Amino acid sequence: MGKCDVIILAAGASTRAKADKMLYKLLEGTVIERTVQAFLPLPFVSRIIIATNTDNQEQIAKLFKDYDNSSIEVVLGSNSRHLSVKSALQKAQAPYVLIHDGARPFVNAELIRRVYEATCKSGSAIPALPLTDSIRKVDNASITDGIDREKYMLVQTPQGFDTAKIKQAFVQAEHTSYTDESLLYLEQIGLPKVVAGCEDNYKITTWQDLLSARVKVGIGWDLHNLKEGIPLVICGIRVPYNKGLEAHSNGDVAIHAIIDALLSASGLPDIGCFFPDSSPAYKGVDSMELLAIAYNKVKALNKKINNLSVLIIADEPKLNPYGEQMKKRLCLALGIKAEQLAIHFKTSEGHAPAGCVQSWAICAMF
Ligand code: MG
Repeated sequence: MGKCDVIILAAGASTRAKADKMLYKLLEGTVIERTVQAFLPLPFVSRIIIATNTDNQEQIAKLFKDYDNSSIEVVLGSNSRHLSVKSALQKAQAPYVLIHDGARPFVNAELIRRVYEATCKSGSAIPALPLTDSIRKVDNASITDGIDREKYMLVQTPQGFDTAKIKQAFVQAEHTSYTDESLLYLEQIGLPKVVAGCEDNYKITTWQDLLSARVKVGIGWDLHNLKEGIPLVICGIRVPYNKGLEAHSNGDVAIHAIIDALLSASGLPDIGCFFPDSSPAYKGVDSMELLAIAYNKVKALNKKINNLSVLIIADEPKLNPYGEQMKKRLCLALGIKAEQLAIHFKTSEGHAPAGCVQSWAICAMF
């Protein structure tokens, strides 16, 4: 399969969002950076061409100055989507091209790959979702007709095309402007292929969309018994004590709770599905290694941590003195800032099962 270039449209006027939504900060980077980062690591992506407007061109070019310059190019688009795509297409050289709205920063690798593979196979691919609400025709504040929603779908981006064919479509449509490329392709070339879209890949349109940039919360819990003669490791830190936590792995109870919270917030199955305690591969394993594997699965879905709260409940030993060390270790492992992580310690005042350590973790991701 040939490679593809990606055109990202960042030239819209953002009138409904009342601010340049491309430059809006989503905790870690701007909307446009988040969008570009979804495509950047994919092996089949050759170049990323960002079409900007005169107002944000300089700022967007500055944002990507430190990225791998050979794979990102910022070009001046137009306030018409049709003309922006047309001018960006002149830079596209790979056999296929994916055209994506810069305001859909939550697109994930799975969807991009689905569109790309279908484009290689069929020459075009448009992601679409079924309609869930009913649609009615309205005239003068009265419903005048109904629409059979089974026959309609909501189209998303990235929309994939054979580069030569979509270029040809633009030449043929010299005097017409289209609202998206699926319609252009339909009228100028043929029937575009439809593939399954993704609910998370919504388009930021209003100021409310920006403010509520979809946070999902996940929870994790774990408990292990203390046993004499084994090392005690919590949050990746060795705590000096005469007992450690008994488990198939190294028993890092807090890391196990954190892994489940990350997986849960990302809609993935729990820790036991990925690292079964029946598998000899995980016998005595450092749980930080399991965290790295699980976190990579989460990052592959283009999910980022908003904040993580960890609670560790132990009547023995005193863990408070190791809190700062634990926090540093976790921030480093997860690539998050100190203000995104809280670790609290409690005792059960003798109410928990004797000689155990429990941990809860709650993680918000977006
Ligand atoms: Mg466990």
